[in-house]
Amino acid sequence: MDIQTTIQSLRDELSQHNHNYYVLDKPTISDFEFDQLLKKLQDLEMQHPEFFDENSPTQRVGGSITKNFTTVAHEHRMYSLDNSYSTEDLMDWEVRIQKILGNVDLEYTCELKYDGASISITYENGKLKKAVTRGDGFQGDEVTNNVKTIRSIPLQLKGNYPPKFAIRGEIILPFSGFEKMNQELIEIGETPYSNPRNTASGSLKLQDSAEVAKRPLDCLLYFIVGNNLPFKTQFEGLETARKWGFKVPTQAKLAKNMQEVLEFITYWDVHRHDLPYETDGVVIKVNSLQHQDELGYTAKSPRWAMAYKFKSEQVSTRLNSISYQVGRTGAITPVANLEPVQLAGTIVKRASLHNADQIQKLDIRIGDKVFVEKGGEIIPKIIAVAERGNESFPTVYITNCPECQTALERKEGEANHYCPNFYGCPPQIVGRIQHYITRKAMDIEGLGGETVALLYQNGLVKNYADLYDLKIEQILPLERMAQKSAENLINGIEKSKEVPFERVLYALGIRYVGETVAKKLAKHYKNIDAIANASLMDLILVDEIGDKIAQSVIEFFENIENRITIERLKAVGIQFELVENNTQVSDKFAGKTFVVSGVFEKFSRDDLKKAIEDNGGKVGSSISTKTDYVVAGENMGPAKLEKANQLKIAIISEEDFLGMIGN
Ligand code: AMP
Ligand code: ZN
Repeated sequence: MDIQTTIQSLRDELSQHNHNYYVLDKPTISDFEFDQLLKKLQDLEMQHPEFFDENSPTQRVGGSITKNFTTVAHEHRMYSLDNSYSTEDLMDWEVRIQKILGNVDLEYTCELKYDGASISITYENGKLKKAVTRGDGFQGDEVTNNVKTIRSIPLQLKGNYPPKFAIRGEIILPFSGFEKMNQELIEIGETPYSNPRNTASGSLKLQDSAEVAKRPLDCLLYFIVGNNLPFKTQFEGLETARKWGFKVPTQAKLAKNMQEVLEFITYWDVHRHDLPYETDGVVIKVNSLQHQDELGYTAKSPRWAMAYKFKSEQVSTRLNSISYQVGRTGAITPVANLEPVQLAGTIVKRASLHNADQIQKLDIRIGDKVFVEKGGEIIPKIIAVAERGNESFPTVYITNCPECQTALERKEGEANHYCPNFYGCPPQIVGRIQHYITRKAMDIEGLGGETVALLYQNGLVKNYADLYDLKIEQILPLERMAQKSAENLINGIEKSKEVPFERVLYALGIRYVGETVAKKLAKHYKNIDAIANASLMDLILVDEIGDKIAQSVIEFFENIENRITIERLKAVGIQFELVENNTQVSDKFAGKTFVVSGVFEKFSRDDLKKAIEDNGGKVGSSISTKTDYVVAGENMGPAKLEKANQLKIAIISEEDFLGMIGN
């Protein structure tokens, strides 16, 4: 098989495995085997850039950066849906459309209404060309690079597809993925995302597609638009989309009449809680495309479709008190403490109140009976006052930090209040140390968040540099601390001195400097002093560092306490310099590709390859027009020799090579 065929068959194979795993939910190989195949393809593509394909499965990992998303007009408008809330509403709708169609027999396709971000994806000749958000229905943002990272969306279609069409769907974040993402945020002291829907739509607008690739997004498809489509009904359309490789939920059902529609609704009103993602209703579509055509559209929505909204589960209960939590970054979150009540299978005691505006808007007062609702959120939310309490008075939002009494601030355009006492406010201090020790930061084994709080309460640590002064006899008296665990703790702290600079930088907890930004800064500046001395302009010029991040970095290093802390960390031996793991000696081979063949005297083949790379060259695996030199040892294969001669590629000996690198 020639290289091109090998590459193509690997691509096909990997696409099929992606489909089995992400669409059919029936993987046939292990993750390990998958990774091996992917690696193989990556290597081949690297050696043969001439066979690059933007729709190769290797491109799923993303990596492209979009600073500004282009606005693109939809070829076919993306309409809204009319809503209905009762059987009567649906009956009325049927009467309305029957009037237009002239009392025909009507079948309906019933689908679940997936709660995410709508997307329109265009395919040309079976290849994913363009993905655009709904926007205002007439035009949206082009988010193709981000959408391509979603594994369940085919990049290359199968079967008999028309040369050009668009498919509409909903990009969602299943509960499991949402919870996993939040778990990670909570671990580093960040505010968790509030619900899967907003997180899904927010993900589509991330600038770095590699970040999107890490998010467990999914895409459920529901509608094909185009000319000369090979089906006559919505239901066939769904089945066809499935055949081309799209993920179309199998819950979709063909209803012979309105009675069956109602049965579908009744069933899913209860069973939707068993689904792995959020749904907020059912969408009912007239099945025949010809009927759809006759019915057409109103100014806002198709006449042939109707959304039926489920009532979200709600209960009312008494608001006993409001408490205010202070996060690691100083953000204040108001939390409602409720009279415990049963809701959607769990007992609810607390609910989110979001921020001051929300409390004011709903005029929520202590002692009120309030409606509590549970959607995709991790904690339920209060949606309205059900009944005013007897002796209630309007809620006055706190003006000072509940933990350190500092006057709160609220920045222009921000919803939350902040406690600005970054260096003196206990939850912020503890939160920062807790962040410092997490897995992705300094990964201090033997030390957990609770112990940090305990150390702080006992006056043993006030910032993360204090950790390195801890003595075993100081921590032994602490609650639940035994000799062994105390030793582990000290060892864990000691070991953190080996953590590489980019993670140290992240661990410092500079606002807006997450893992990725820390890596970028570390790579660009190489050491902490260079970052500390960089000007605002300087920082902004670094790829992907915006004003907000740059400003925050400047503020961090302007602070004298931070500077002292860093000096102390330096003194104990924390890594503040990038260790680059390349041994580059020169770039004299830059842009040159070598192929190594045969056996050598002075070098092992691996050492020879390393010597090429150390001098900036590339090592190719087979001879092609891209090859500049063939380093030939004993027993070079005759086929290779012939190929090299044919392509007039310089064949050099081991001695020649040694001469080239100056030995
Ligand atoms: P709304 O935003 O309430 O007007 O509802 C319309 C939106 O519902 C569409 O833009 C789609 O994004 C979304 N939707 C979710 N599931 C479906 C479905 N099965 N069929 C059609 N639209 C759907
Ligand atoms: Zn405070």
